[in-house]
Amino acid sequence: MIRLPAFEVLFPASVGEALEMLAAHPGSVPVGAGTDLLPNMKRRQVHPGVLVSLARIPGLFGIDTASDGTTVIGASTPLAQVADSTEVSPAMREAAALVASPQIRNTATIGGNLCVDTRCAFINVTEEWRTASGPCLKAGGDVCWVAPKGSHCYAISSSDLAPAAIVSGASVRLVGPAGERVLPVSDLYRPDGIDHMARRRDEILTQVLVPPAAGLRTTYLKLRRRQAVDFPMLGVAAGVRLAEDGTVSDARIVLGAVSPAPLRAVDAEALLLGRRLDRETIAAAAELAAKPVRPFDNADLGSRYRKWMAAVFVERALGALAAP
Ligand code: FAD
Repeated sequence: MIRLPAFEVLFPASVGEALEMLAAHPGSVPVGAGTDLLPNMKRRQVHPGVLVSLARIPGLFGIDTASDGTTVIGASTPLAQVADSTEVSPAMREAAALVASPQIRNTATIGGNLCVDTRCAFINVTEEWRTASGPCLKAGGDVCWVAPKGSHCYAISSSDLAPAAIVSGASVRLVGPAGERVLPVSDLYRPDGIDHMARRRDEILTQVLVPPAAGLRTTYLKLRRRQAVDFPMLGVAAGVRLAEDGTVSDARIVLGAVSPAPLRAVDAEALLLGRRLDRETIAAAAELAAKPVRPFDNADLGSRYRKWMAAVFVERALGALAAP
């Protein structure tokens, strides 16, 4: 059994108090349910001495609809509630329902999911394993064991909700010492396995804002070894709007778990515009979507298999959206 290191947990009653605590304790981090953070602390991947819990801030829970139709999801809302909500986009509901296990979904938060750490076979191991191989870039070393000739970290974006939120057009509200800002989820991630988020350390994600669907159909499909518990080895979120004549007027395809940030399949999206979602068009878009996918062998399933499955899953996702 791996034990947790010693640490302190603080329980602010408001976002303002949480920000003060983060400022007062250098190296402290916010914590939702801790279902990602605590396992990472057990493996000594991260060493925050102080956790600022968001669990007792009442305003961060629940799902509401604003007067303009925007769905407002509090950052501490459990994924089980997101999965059951009729207000949230289908892709986000489906993604939430596919995270981990029922027990984890009952506590794990949507804010924590969007901020989940990147993963890699060389970092998500015990300290002994990392010491034996020598620390990789993400562990503070000077070599990437996945691509030793490079100087880039290829740890994988592993949030199921991230691609689904991007195709749904969602944004996040970030609150920090300098005030608050609203950032599209598509701008929340950076293509770097270490510095993978545009969120600053002292910022708290307080809300996820999902615009009204206005005819946007969305879906999310996930590849993993087992049909429960496992992180995605590939996540495909897709969204389309159809014009009155049945042609595609808006197309969005985002692939998760194949690179350090969610990957937008822009060429495939462009190909779909103005066309009907027939079998040939879907097959061509799926092939195009898989082209820029270059996963590394740093996850459970092999990289060639994951690339191959990217086309298969995009085809399935678009096929599902084409169904009447
Ligand atoms: P936490 O662990 O509390 O936090 C995660 C990170 O986000 C930390 O860095 C924390 O500092 C930061 N953070 C949390 N809340 C905020 C906030 N409001 N503002 C700013 N920063 C914040 N995830 C998946 O996506 N798909 C899976 O299939 C999946 N399977 C899992 C299986 C197992 C066995 C386990 C243990 C975990 C799995 N996870 C999976 C990871 C995790 O359970 C989920 O991503 C979960 O939604 C994280 O939410 P949390 O509230 O527990 O986050």
